[in-house]
Amino acid sequence: KSSSKSERRAAEEAAKRLKMEKEDRSKIIPQLRKESRRTYLQKRKGDKLIELEQDIIDDEYLFAEEELTERERKEREKKKMLLQLAKGHEMASEMEKVSRYHMPEESKTTALTKKYVEVDEKERAPYSEQRKWEEERVAVAQWKFGARDAKAKVEQDYEYVLDDTIDFVQMLKLPGTKEIEEAPKISEAEIKKISLQETRRSLPIFPFREDLLKAIEDHQILIIEGETGSGKTTQIPQYLYEHGFTKDGKKIGCTQPRRVAAMSVAARVAQEMNVKLGNEVGYSIRFEDCTSERTLVKYMTDGMLLREFLSEPDLSSYSVMIIDEAHERTLHTDILFGLIKDISRFRSDLKLLISSATLDAEKFSEFFDDAPVFRIPGRRFPVDIYYTKAPEADYIDACVVTVLQIHVTQSLGDILVFLTGQEEIETCLEILQERTRKLGKKIKELLVLPIYANLPSDMQAKIFEPTPPGARKCILATNIAETSLTIDNIIYVIDPGFAKQNSYNPKTGMESLVVTPISKASANQRAGRAGRVAAGKCFRLYTAWAYQNELEENAIPEIQRVNLGNVVLLLKSLGINDLVHFDYLDPPPYETLALALEQLYALGALNHRGELTKIGRRMAEFPCDPMMSKMLLASEKYKCASEACTIAAMLSVNSSVFYRPKDKVLQADTARKNFFVPGGDHLSLFNVYDQWEESGFSSQWCYENFIQHRSMKRARDVRDQLEGLMQRVEIEMTSSPTETESIRKSITAGYFYHTARLSKGGYKTVKHNQPVLVHPNSSLFEDLPRWVIYHELVFTTKEYMRQVIEIENKWLLEVAPHYYKAKD
Ligand code: ADP
Ligand code: MG
Repeated sequence: KSSSKSERRAAEEAAKRLKMEKEDRSKIIPQLRKESRRTYLQKRKGDKLIELEQDIIDDEYLFAEEELTERERKEREKKKMLLQLAKGHEMASEMEKVSRYHMPEESKTTALTKKYVEVDEKERAPYSEQRKWEEERVAVAQWKFGARDAKAKVEQDYEYVLDDTIDFVQMLKLPGTKEIEEAPKISEAEIKKISLQETRRSLPIFPFREDLLKAIEDHQILIIEGETGSGKTTQIPQYLYEHGFTKDGKKIGCTQPRRVAAMSVAARVAQEMNVKLGNEVGYSIRFEDCTSERTLVKYMTDGMLLREFLSEPDLSSYSVMIIDEAHERTLHTDILFGLIKDISRFRSDLKLLISSATLDAEKFSEFFDDAPVFRIPGRRFPVDIYYTKAPEADYIDACVVTVLQIHVTQSLGDILVFLTGQEEIETCLEILQERTRKLGKKIKELLVLPIYANLPSDMQAKIFEPTPPGARKCILATNIAETSLTIDNIIYVIDPGFAKQNSYNPKTGMESLVVTPISKASANQRAGRAGRVAAGKCFRLYTAWAYQNELEENAIPEIQRVNLGNVVLLLKSLGINDLVHFDYLDPPPYETLALALEQLYALGALNHRGELTKIGRRMAEFPCDPMMSKMLLASEKYKCASEACTIAAMLSVNSSVFYRPKDKVLQADTARKNFFVPGGDHLSLFNVYDQWEESGFSSQWCYENFIQHRSMKRARDVRDQLEGLMQRVEIEMTSSPTETESIRKSITAGYFYHTARLSKGGYKTVKHNQPVLVHPNSSLFEDLPRWVIYHELVFTTKEYMRQVIEIENKWLLEVAPHYYKAKD
């Protein structure tokens, strides 16, 4: 008997060991998963590839297929695929110089194709400015510390205009409802002649106007599904308005997940209704309210509507609320679903419309107690889909090449390129402009236009202007053009297959923006943008294999992958205490919710029973991240409220403060460095604002110092509003301009979660020992103080801390004693 007992113990021991090994592994795997395809491709060289391969072999040796859970098995498969992909790329890059190019027929190829043009090295810019800058700085640093010489061999290179080209293969046709090859072409002059009213009548939604209004009268909640561009966002609020839904003085609200969309659509609708924007039709986005007493049709971001619940919990000033772009499943939209479903039960006079571009309608219907679905039949021409034969390592370069390829080989029609952010768009824009300028009259006119959230609205409006005859428009857009905005006349779509996504790891509390592969659903939405006016073509800058095997079916809803601190604070302020049983369309992971509660507790916003404290109530007044709100509140104690407001405002526009024109890089960098002050980047940002204020808010001053005047004006607006809110929570606008310790302490009081410590191996986050680097742009890049606090993390090739200040260890105990227990 005793022997069987010891046997059992040995077996238990072994099982425990195995479990521990497994747990170890489960820590590594999510990290691997997080790294995007791009990262893997970057890893393809040298030992990284071997490392990955070895990792897979080890894994297989340790754990047999049968032992794995379903998820683990999938992870393993995925790793193998990635390895295969990386290897494929390795091979592809060897073949690279051998004719990569093959465009679909229709070669109206000009003599151009075969002409030699000298292209200088700089222009090929394989990476985005940002990455190049990071690499340069890192290389310099390595050089300084006597590490290896990272300078790459410069190769002399001449190329064809279209020598650097990409081989596409057609694999798929996205069927249209109209199997016509070519749409009846309307001339530009004719388009101009068509009045706005006629345009309205030509939209797919128009024939369903009466039926739709009838359905809305008959049902309190209606799900509306219709292809992007059918007129849901711009027309439905107008139909409702015309039908008298605002007669009793109540408004029609329409939410948008994106700021740009809210602004742009409101502007369009004001134009269609022939009223001044801000009067009958207005919009409201964070820090910018463009509405008035007269406003009856109000577009707003989903986040703003959430905040409206604080002042008007039953939305009594609205007769209709439209939750638009529901398929995007942003965190705020998801929370709105629960709240609005709840109020619809006691406000039977409130009409509720959920509108979506994709096939999630059933799911929405089910959530809203089987609400009926109203489908607006789409109108789409077929779209041919082309894939690259081999993976592309550098999709910016691939985009440039493909745009030019299309431009010289394909018939006229506008191009839409999907990039992940402002920085990439600007890089791509510069390269394209440079190239087309060099080609001059040899090619037709190519107008390259950007669209992204921070672009000033007059520039945003440009994308909607008709293309001049004989020219081609090429729009470089973020995800915003996927469904939120519809640009007419797009025939060609270029899709690199990536988007920037907020990614949050509840285990480490680390949140950062990561370039992530898109889902199949997104890829198909993007392709669909090519078929609105005629048969189109979509060029995917990835392989058919990657599409099939690598992309998820649907994106994971934001609620399941971001930090919930903000929303939890808001819900608590609305008196919703039980967040576990809140009515979610898809619930957030329990650990994310728990971490949000824990964070709010550490910030002092919740007490140990999870109830809102007085601090929490005051924090909720600010439309900011809880950490920033806490920083603002803490500035009361440290008598630097004025500085804290400035810093918060500057942080909110921060990525666009400094201007770095390509031809004046050195001067711009010097100018930026001149703003550096001891202590760190927050203080430098404050310094910029302070000097600007001293200059009398001068635009000339901005110009001379390579500062974007537009961003500064926005910072001033934000600052004014924050000042107003400070008054509301009764904080006096004190200032302590001479010493920075109090300012840094206030920041610490809000951001103590973001502490990192320098040790032998570099910086590590304090709570979870995650390695992080100071961003090369930071004033502390070379200082390397022992303790720092960062504002945010950005993941490019590594996890970088952006906006860093130096702090003292003991402050942590002072500002967050229950979080940092006295250790030393
Ligand atoms: P949906 O919401 O169904 O995707 P929209 O109502 O956004 O459709 O778009 C309908 C039409 O309005 C499209 O043809 C689009 O080009 C046009 N449109 C939308 N916004 C603007 C704008 N700011 N300027 C010009 N046209 C616009
Ligand atoms: Mg829309």
